[in-house]
Amino acid sequence: MTSLNSLTVTLEELEVVLNNDYSESSCFVLVDENTRKLCLPHLIQKCPSLQKVRIIEIFSGEQHKNLETFVKIIEQLTENNADRKSLLINLGGGVICDMGGFVAACYKRGIDFINIPTTLLAMVDAAHGGKTGIDFNNFKNQIGVFTPAKKVVIDVDFLKTLPKREVLSGFSEMIKMSLITSTDFWNKIETVNLENLQSLEPLIFQAIDEKKNIVENDPTEQNIRKFLNFGHTFGHAFETFALANGKNLSHGHAVAIGILCELWLSEKILNFDVNLKQKISNYILSIYSKFPIQKTDFEHLIQILLKDKKNINEQIMPVLLKKIGEPQYDLTCSKELCLEALQMYLDL
Ligand code: NAD
Repeated sequence: MTSLNSLTVTLEELEVVLNNDYSESSCFVLVDENTRKLCLPHLIQKCPSLQKVRIIEIFSGEQHKNLETFVKIIEQLTENNADRKSLLINLGGGVICDMGGFVAACYKRGIDFINIPTTLLAMVDAAHGGKTGIDFNNFKNQIGVFTPAKKVVIDVDFLKTLPKREVLSGFSEMIKMSLITSTDFWNKIETVNLENLQSLEPLIFQAIDEKKNIVENDPTEQNIRKFLNFGHTFGHAFETFALANGKNLSHGHAVAIGILCELWLSEKILNFDVNLKQKISNYILSIYSKFPIQKTDFEHLIQILLKDKKNINEQIMPVLLKKIGEPQYDLTCSKELCLEALQMYLDL
């Protein structure tokens, strides 16, 4: 399936990489309380060379993807004399990969890191592509750098302990990936059995390959990498809104809402087929519950949309679809149309 030359490897291949490339390095594994309990034993069983590895544990959850946690990890690396040859292994979901990648990119101007994603979302998205970072003052990913992991280890066995809510969270990134790439991929996604994670495996690898193709051609998001932001302009607004109001909304659930809003805008601005939009929207709504918002929340959501990183000259710029597999970026969208999209979501 994979070779040692490729970025994506198995746990067995990781053991070889550790013995070949990092035998002289001090290794650290970054975990949260859940991945320490549920994923670390499997990792150590498959990679015996990590038996005496130093563990750095942080609290799970987006609310801890912040400067305070960053400082604590740096303190632990420093106390344990990590040097420029040290290796940081990030074992966890997108929060661990984003945080660990950012710490590794900054510590002593950069040490190597390997991502071992243990959520579906991190497997298909967060662990790949070199975006690292943390939130700041309730703004998502406000501080960060592009630095790729040396390897990304994919092992779907980690998903066995993942709660259904987290499986759904990752699945929306797969829906997104299918919509921006091809009808063929979308048809497979639409008929997948989410109760059987093993059947998801080929689609996980397809999603990884599609992301890899895009990122390799545009690592720092100058052009086609922007396609990956489909669903994320509104998605990030809902996620930031939920974070600021202490409401529970996973990243992937927010992306699913973002896809609904941006499909609606795709129909208005790019004439995306109305029947297909309806079909996709119905499918998404059959999986993801409605997130409760009120009309009085619109202004807050619009203010967040106006601060989106992708904006130019304070214009809201979502990625939209002309057709499945034909995304477009650098489109501007008026505040009025964004308000209509929010109203559409409220009325669903
Ligand atoms: P997460 O990292 O918060 O993990 C979700 C929960 O699942 C946590 O409680 C975690 O402890 C638990 N968990 C992890 N693995 C588990 C397992 N195998 N079994 C049981 N529980 C497990 O959330 P996420 O959805 O993986 O990632 C979301 C983050 O990813 C966001 O911060 C988002 O901004 C980021 N992200 C980054 C990129 C990127 O390109 N860098 C892309 C997409 C998302």
